[in-house]
Order: sequence, then C-alpha cells, then structure tokens
Amino acid sequence: MPELPEVETIKRSLAKKALGKRILDVGIFWPPAAVSIPGGDFTELVKGREIESFARRGKYLLINLSRGLTMIVHFRMTGRLIYYADQQPREKHTHVVFYLDQGELHYSDIRKFGRIQLVSTSEAMQVASLAKLGPEPLDELFAFDQLGQRLAKKKSTIKASLLDQKVIAGLGNIYADEALFRAGIQPGRRTESLKVSEIIKLYNAIGEVLAAGIKAKGTSFRDYRDADGNKGSFQYNLMVYGRGGLECIVCGQKLERQKIAGRTTVFCPDCQK
Ligand SMILES: [Zn+2]
Repeated sequence: MPELPEVETIKRSLAKKALGKRILDVGIFWPPAAVSIPGGDFTELVKGREIESFARRGKYLLINLSRGLTMIVHFRMTGRLIYYADQQPREKHTHVVFYLDQGELHYSDIRKFGRIQLVSTSEAMQVASLAKLGPEPLDELFAFDQLGQRLAKKKSTIKASLLDQKVIAGLGNIYADEALFRAGIQPGRRTESLKVSEIIKLYNAIGEVLAAGIKAKGTSFRDYRDADGNKGSFQYNLMVYGRGGLECIVCGQKLERQKIAGRTTVFCPDCQK
C-alpha cells in the first residue's frame, strides 16, 4: 500500500506532467472506483475543468480542479495513477481514464479497494476520511511533544499506535517498522512505557525515514509506481521490513517476526528494547 513517501512521490511526479491540463472527458470502466458528489454525475462535473494543483494529506492525494472541485484519491492496496503523454490503450485493471487536452491519466487498481472521490474543494478537508487524520509528520509545526501527547492517549502497542492514522498521518507497515528500528524501540512496547528520550528518538526516526523514503521516490515491492510508471528504490534501504529471519544489518542477530495489530512486524530483539 502506498504510504506517505509513495503518495508524495506520485504527487510530485504528477505535478510535473499534468499540472494545468484540462480534462476533456472521463471514461469510467468500473463505476465504484469513481465516487461523485451526491446527486451529481462524476463525468459531467469533472469535464472541462483544469487541473490547478496537487496536494497530499496522509496517504491521500488531492487533485484540485478549477472552479472549486477536488478529487481525493485513496490508493489503498494497489491503486495507481499514471500519466501518459500520448493515447494509451486501457489495461484490464484500468478503471478510470481522464482524457486531457494533452495526454491521459489512467487510474488502475487490481484489488479494487481504492477510490477517487469528488468533493467541493472548500469541504475537502472535512470529508470524513480526512477530518479524522492526525498531524502531518513532516509538517514544520509538528513537534515531538505533540507525538508524545498523542501516543500517551492511545494506550496500545507502539506499532498499532503508529499505524493509527488518527494519531499520526501517513505511516503504514513499512515506515512504522523502519522508524521503530531506527529509534531502537520494540514494536510490541506499550505506549505508556515510553520515556521522553525514546519519544524524541522515535520522532526523529519518523522524520528521517519518511524523508529518506521520499528522496528514494518510495518503496516498490510489487505494485507501487509513481505517475511516470517508475519504481522507487527505498526497498534497497530497508533495515527490517520484509527481512524477518535474516540477520540484523547492525548487530547480526536474527530478525524476529511477530503479528502486531494484525500486521506482520519485523524487529531486532537486540537493537530494539
Ligand atoms: Zn540488531
């Protein structure tokens, strides 16, 4: 599933290609993928509007159109949004095609969990899924004590808390495991057991791992591609995620695998306390 660095990468690559383009028509080939404003037809509402800007909130991509409409894209498991400069044949899992005055934007999704939701721009941040989100971890105003306060309220394992989008927005299984490893904290620890020094380490690790993920243009295992169809390279920098049973890069100890919050979690029993 694309996490914050992947969605940020998609946003940046789309901004380079699709900004200022006009949507001439929309082809919807699997209707549940395109959710319209109640009572309005998705295609009719979007047709003729210009793509004015892109934004991101947590794992959501926002495509702001002219005259006050926004498309909120939630990629979920396998959603992809790819820009093609020329006409492109539709693939089997392409559910929505935006025909632009220059090029095409294809939304595809093998697992079909993703959605493109049309809303009015003024209400975009109040849409249920976005209104609930916790702070943006890379926001300059997001400070470590804020993280501490939010974790203290959670009373759960630290891994489950980091995955909770209401606590902090944008982290998923990959970057949560990587941040906990870099912070030296076992994922099964209770949030109320964390010392201030550990919260500071975790806060720094989250910032570092997300920034590194963006710099590497995301992590591509199976499905994730940016808007140019390119893979990211952060999979080569992962220290624990996907490495259960292998040796710890730092100490050589065998990395352990454990199910926490329903997700396979990998950590080093030596480096993480
Ligand atoms: Zn280790």
